[in-house]
Amino acid sequence: MMENAPRAAVIGWPVKHSRSPIIHRHWLKTYDLAGSYDRLALEPEKAEAFFRSFSSSGLVGANVTIPYKETAFSCCDEVDETARVLGAVNTIVLKDGRLLGSNTDEFGFLGSLDSGAPGWDEIGKTAIVLGAGGAARAVVWALLSRGLTVHLFNRTRKRAKVLADRFGSGVQVHEFDDLPTILKTVSIFVNTTSFGMEGQPALDVDLSPMPGSAVVTDIVYVPLETPLLALARHRGLQTVDGLGMLLHQAIPGFELWFGHRPQVTAELRSIVLEDMAWDEKLGEA
Ligand code: NAP
Repeated sequence: MMENAPRAAVIGWPVKHSRSPIIHRHWLKTYDLAGSYDRLALEPEKAEAFFRSFSSSGLVGANVTIPYKETAFSCCDEVDETARVLGAVNTIVLKDGRLLGSNTDEFGFLGSLDSGAPGWDEIGKTAIVLGAGGAARAVVWALLSRGLTVHLFNRTRKRAKVLADRFGSGVQVHEFDDLPTILKTVSIFVNTTSFGMEGQPALDVDLSPMPGSAVVTDIVYVPLETPLLALARHRGLQTVDGLGMLLHQAIPGFELWFGHRPQVTAELRSIVLEDMAWDEKLGEA
């Protein structure tokens, strides 16, 4: 490899399960670009010092994952609007010696819906979001940016209230008892909780009141078709799986570090799916 080729990485603790290297290495190969992308496991006690002296790391930039999205946010010289609103950074780049931070989860969520269910934001202007964690913040922000009103449901109501207060009157918090009534009125239903994830209980929800034109999406992507998505498919609703968000959120970082805007293709999806199948096999072994 060329000595001065740009080097990027995904930084977290732990980081060995991250699929980002598969995505970025596939793109480097596809577009025949010089560069590398690695995993960097960073010990918690070293994290702040690492981000503060990022210019001496030898990296041009990085993806930042759990548990460092807030640490990176506080160490950047400048952050974009989405990172500021979400209070978390998942993509960093060095520019003229300054560390710039952004958050690409909103971009990834919207990119996935735009390609998986084109015109989804024209069907109606009301959404249900389940969950009020870190990912829900990006999802809510994304839906608001397309002019939708969000009905928010979460086990811990207080957490939902904190999220809603962050965004103002476009987000309304409800009790789960209200779900059947609100389902009748929405054009999109988004699960951002860990329900439906492998090893976790399935989401117990009756989708029958939803309009037939509605879209159901789950940001959980292991398994690819969660019980919620299977239910929606049987009900005849449009569905979008969570893998698209993971792939689309990687686009801006790759372009920043390697100078080429990459595409999410069927080939990339199948490479990542193959890796997920390998993990499953290893888990069974
Ligand atoms: P998080 O901050 O820990 O939030 C978890 C959410 O799930 C909270 O709303 C929590 O409710 C709820 N929850 C968890 N267990 C529950 C249970 N047993 N009963 C009811 N509610 C429960 O996690 P996150 O970072 O937002 O991630 C959430 C999921 O999204 C994960 O599965 C993650 O892998 C996935 N994700 C996917 C992508 C993608 O690119 N596709 C990106 C980011 C995250 P409480 O507030 O009541 O605890």
